[in-house]
Amino acid sequence: MRREGKTKLRIPAAKPAAPDRLNVWTCMKCGFQIVCIDIHEGCTPFALDCKADGCDGTAYSHFYHVAGMDFGAPQWEWYTPQFAEYINLSTPERDHVYCGGLLLRRRVREYAAA
Ligand SMILES: [Zn+2]
Repeated sequence: MRREGKTKLRIPAAKPAAPDRLNVWTCMKCGFQIVCIDIHEGCTPFALDCKADGCDGTAYSHFYHVAGMDFGAPQWEWYTPQFAEYINLSTPERDHVYCGGLLLRRRVREYAAA
């Protein structure tokens, strides 16, 4: 990998998202629902790899049209990484974040309904 010592890495600052940014991705193969909340403002993908054990299906976004759906509390969250994490990402992941994309991780704190 080529290193350029003078190159400055810049990433978008994390901005808190509105508290109601809930969305669900449903797997077309097994029906598993990936229930997510955005904790920062940014873009999320249309399709995701299914998170169910042993499933290699693809889950598709409900585009935040989840009112009335019974899916329980979100188990995953979309976030803007801090710099220390950003510098360890793959190049495609960095590009995604640099363009305003969010990353997905297991929810680290309980969802508190406002
Ligand atoms: Zn699946």
